[in-house]
Amino acid sequence: MEYQNRLQGRDPLMGLPSGFRSYVKQRKDMESARLSGNGLPNYAFAMDYELRKKLDSIPQLYSLGKKICGTVASRYMQMYNREALLVGPDQFPEVYQIGCDCAKRLGIGIPNIYIINDQTLNAYTYAMDDVEPIIVVHSGLYERFTLGELRCVIGHECGHIHNQHGVYNMLAQLLLVGGLAAAGGALSAQILQLLTMSSQVALSAWSRAAEVTCDRAGMICCEQEEDAYQVNAKLMYGAALGEHTVNLEALRRQLEMQMGNMARLDELLASHPSSVRRIVAEMEFAECEVFYRWRPELKKPGQVMRSRQETDERCRRFVDVMKKG
Ligand SMILES: [Zn+2]
Repeated sequence: MEYQNRLQGRDPLMGLPSGFRSYVKQRKDMESARLSGNGLPNYAFAMDYELRKKLDSIPQLYSLGKKICGTVASRYMQMYNREALLVGPDQFPEVYQIGCDCAKRLGIGIPNIYIINDQTLNAYTYAMDDVEPIIVVHSGLYERFTLGELRCVIGHECGHIHNQHGVYNMLAQLLLVGGLAAAGGALSAQILQLLTMSSQVALSAWSRAAEVTCDRAGMICCEQEEDAYQVNAKLMYGAALGEHTVNLEALRRQLEMQMGNMARLDELLASHPSSVRRIVAEMEFAECEVFYRWRPELKKPGQVMRSRQETDERCRRFVDVMKKG
């Protein structure tokens, strides 16, 4: 599967008035400066692309996934329309505004955002090639997160759309994420039986890498990178006891303990890296020059700055559960 711009080879600016033409050209130049050689955004984690290519080479996985997800997505979208609240300029306008801001920053269309009555701290995206993407935010997350943290969450979800994670992301959620797999019921169980164990491991490994990409999108959309760390910390401690400042050095020590233990292999079939791994990977991105190409105003005096390649190598060590560290 190619992730290159499908419009390549045509001149989409033909026939437009010259002022608008130069505006569109400027936007296109800006967008292409933010794409890497493989057609994906320049902030995408290298393992996301590498492991996605592996998934593409598994016979039938994409076509089967597309059929299943198409059916499930239309059913779920009707369910959300019936049972969840669609935000808009006159419905939870602060959440709608965050969706607009994130979409504008990443250069994607404004997504439909639903809030659903569920106390678990979660948010997810349904995005297929031919269906308008939707983002679902659980009420528990909406209640316990600050607006700054919610911005990171919605930015993360917009990242799934921006990086064309579509079918594989939905498949991973349906099969691997507890609550959603349960909601998918018998269908999820049947699909799982169709996949070999090695395909499940490959899908999980890609999904974890894709989450790192989207945490970076969340940071690109955030007001301050500390909000992104706090989001993942709240996923650990639940945020029920109010605001706490996360001790980042203590978290690094916690990760070293995790990586040195064979129990890390329990994560082989996890759809998301553990929150500690995610926070440390985010801290690496806060020292990456790509982050400051998107957000130059967040640069601090004496800022450590590494190339994306070096950042990705360092993140690989934290994210790959097969590695002892
Ligand atoms: Zn995600």
